[in-house]
Amino acid sequence: MKKITLVGGGLAGSLLSIYLAKRGLEVDLYERRPDMRTVDISAGRSINMALSARGIYALREVDVLDDIMQQAIAMRGRMIHAVDGTLSFLPYGKDDSEVIYSISRGGLNMALLSAAERQHGVRIHFNEQCTHYDVRTGTTTFQNADSNATKTIETSVVIGTDGSASAIRTAMLSVPRFNFSQHYLDHGYKELTIPPDAGGGFQIEKHALHIWPRGQYMLIALPNPDGSFTCTLFLPFEGELSFENLQNEQAVRRFFEQHFPDAVPLMPTLIDDFFTNPTGALATVRCWPWRVGGRAALLGDAAHAIVPFFGQGMNCAFEDCTVLNQCIEQHEGDWERIFIEYERERKVNADAIADLALANFIEMRDSVADAGFALKKDVELALEKRFPDRFIPKYSMVSFHRIPYAVAQARGRQQAAILERLCRDIDGVEGLDWGVAKRIIEQELPLVKQEKF
Ligand SMILES: Cc1cc2nc3c(=O)[nH]c(=O)nc-3n(C[C@H](O)[C@H](O)[C@H](O)COP(=O)(O)OP(=O)(O)OC[C@H]3O[C@@H](n4cnc5c(N)ncnc54)[C@H](O)[C@@H]3O)c2cc1C
Repeated sequence: MKKITLVGGGLAGSLLSIYLAKRGLEVDLYERRPDMRTVDISAGRSINMALSARGIYALREVDVLDDIMQQAIAMRGRMIHAVDGTLSFLPYGKDDSEVIYSISRGGLNMALLSAAERQHGVRIHFNEQCTHYDVRTGTTTFQNADSNATKTIETSVVIGTDGSASAIRTAMLSVPRFNFSQHYLDHGYKELTIPPDAGGGFQIEKHALHIWPRGQYMLIALPNPDGSFTCTLFLPFEGELSFENLQNEQAVRRFFEQHFPDAVPLMPTLIDDFFTNPTGALATVRCWPWRVGGRAALLGDAAHAIVPFFGQGMNCAFEDCTVLNQCIEQHEGDWERIFIEYERERKVNADAIADLALANFIEMRDSVADAGFALKKDVELALEKRFPDRFIPKYSMVSFHRIPYAVAQARGRQQAAILERLCRDIDGVEGLDWGVAKRIIEQELPLVKQEKF
């Protein structure tokens, strides 16, 4: 039986191990942290996250979806909080079937690890940090966190699922003509909490992703099953309104009372959370190639870390696993061909979602507060209902379909130009000239190739 070594037992590594084991491959998964099922380790970032079509498809393929969905909370749209406390709701999809789900990062990771180990015989080695990968010989070195002992193993195929600071990718820097870039945002993020109300219920609308858009910065909140919300403040590191200027309790209180007044009474632990929780950085990582011959490959954040504003990093990593699995099926045993096809299919799409995620930051922190934005969202959904084979809003192509990200990006640009023309002189969907809309859409937008999920 072919042996595969996976480095990194986070979301992508644990899912991929199941896909591979289900194909009859012998999988060893090495993770630098202790077993999160027995030791309480805070991942240090995003306690909950948004799961959508591509992630759902992959979880269903490996039979862990039902387990995960028991704790998932549907978010039907964005709940926008204006500074004066006015709320407006912008649905994500054309009906209640088009929702995204708030799920626990730790819960999902643990469910995947358990399924990998117990149902599929994956051998998981915790506390083993990869310190080196030799691109020439294909050997991998690990250091044990308890004993500091090192060991070097030899396997013919190694896949780096070790996240945005990947050790396998670092080793690939020594491959001639290996390209690598890392671009940090000027904004950092900090997690805060809205606890449940006295009765254990939700203090604000449960089935929404809450956004307090404020132009250069924003606060968001996603629901948890216990009635709480995990909030994330995205704010520049430096400048007038920035983390560097929020150094004491008074400054933090003043900032929140001025910019997020309706959130302050909901957050009794604001000051504690603010000064206890770390401030995280956000980067886009790109590299190429993603493989060394048929011996090693990168997958998930190790290959393409993106900023979190489209809620797609994990979903994209899960789609990598789905595609790699298809490539293995098509080219059984020929690992060089498998990796070539996998990176050919995925690189263009990973680049597209990286760009879309950066653009969505501006949409979330700024545009969503505009009346013009709400109008365009209404018109988009109305056009989709009338022309479902041709006009699918960009957000929906990314979140509710498995249309390749690069196609969603290209069609999204075309559709944005069409929307601009159709919305120019109207202030509601009722003002839309359906005859003009039909002519433009049928002339300019080819039929969408849709993959059911
Ligand atoms: C604030 C924030 C919010 C986000 N929200 C969303 C969201 O709503 N939806 C979404 O789809 N995505 C979201 N993401 C993105 C998502 O977290 C990542 O895309 C996803 O975790 C990638 O999975 P991964 O397994 O590739 O990497 P990781 O989850 O980072 O896992 C890597 C694993 O490798 C291990 N490891 C690292 N180095 C080594 C080593 N040298 N040796 C051994 N093991 C190692 C790590 O301990 C870890 O377990 C968010 C990200 C952030 C930062």
